[in-house]
Amino acid sequence: MDKPKSIPIGFFLAAVLMVGLGLAVLTRHGRWDPTERPRTFSWPALGTVAEFSPRGWDGAAARDGVAAVFREVETNLSVFVAESAVSRLNRGETVRVATNSPLAEVLCLALKTAEASGGAFDPTVNPLMRAWGFRGGTPSVPSPTALSNALGRVGWRQITLVPDANGMLRVSAGGAELDLGAIAKGYAVDRAYDALVANGHTDFLLNLGGNIRVRGSPERGRADWNVAVRDPSGRHPPSPLPRPLKNGEAVATSGSYERFVEIDGRRYSHIIDPRTGVPVDNGLGSVTVIAPSAMLADAYSTTLFVLGRKAGLSFLKGRPGCTAVFCEP
Ligand code: ADP
Ligand code: MG
Repeated sequence: MDKPKSIPIGFFLAAVLMVGLGLAVLTRHGRWDPTERPRTFSWPALGTVAEFSPRGWDGAAARDGVAAVFREVETNLSVFVAESAVSRLNRGETVRVATNSPLAEVLCLALKTAEASGGAFDPTVNPLMRAWGFRGGTPSVPSPTALSNALGRVGWRQITLVPDANGMLRVSAGGAELDLGAIAKGYAVDRAYDALVANGHTDFLLNLGGNIRVRGSPERGRADWNVAVRDPSGRHPPSPLPRPLKNGEAVATSGSYERFVEIDGRRYSHIIDPRTGVPVDNGLGSVTVIAPSAMLADAYSTTLFVLGRKAGLSFLKGRPGCTAVFCEP
């Protein structure tokens, strides 16, 4: 949930989708005809671009529902919202939430992923984000002391979720600082997806800053939503996913080319290796993950970007329905 430093991937994917889905429904005068379908709704959300593409039905009312879900997740989980549950935890408060609340559901997968990845994914990476200048101020390489201080404050094991007598959870950050930017957008997409499905909607695509989930088909007789992976260098055209997305599947991309800080002419990725405290620089430009849900795709694409190709592929073994694409810079 950083502020974008260059064109967000959402914009890019929007462009690809527009071509792929044949969205250019132009009138003879070359202008959009708002009564024509298909169409894509697009608006800013969670520091990036949200898109909702209903197919074969009027999604105007549903779009408001999707936007409300995204706002609710942001209000709960953004590190940039002063009264979010995450900001309150970061100020040392204990927060009491329901087990199906955004905080509980996201933390549950975040902590599992942290453990399974040996700490390559860590939802308490915020002190490192600040140390490198991703949270305001002038980006600079932190001094060894500043780096070791920040590293000393990172550690997902400090987060505790304790059930209380009323079936609620008492959450505490234990002095750590949460940053759910690597997983919250995927979660938001899943929440919106579930709400749409519960309302009986069948054919649509959701995209929140490159976290995409599809249901049904883009048009009669076609199942493939035609999502493509951007070449991180920008030198080559986007390439298709290794396989078409199945009904209900999600895809997410994590990379260093889209959000970064520049220090002395060098780009530093906004994804930091919590084991070293240094922005990831392992020869990868991006990692794209297809998964059964958008939250899994989001969490795993960040994880695999930190782990690199070899360890990343072994992380994915035993995770059914997950496929990864590693791109060079
Ligand atoms: P994006 O937010 O651009 O979609 P990601 O899903 O990969 O990209 O999330 C990157 C964000 O996750 C960073 O901006 C930061 O907030 C947080 N983050 C950075 N490094 C890590 C890490 N190793 N583990 C978990 N979260 C991280
Ligand atoms: Mg992610």
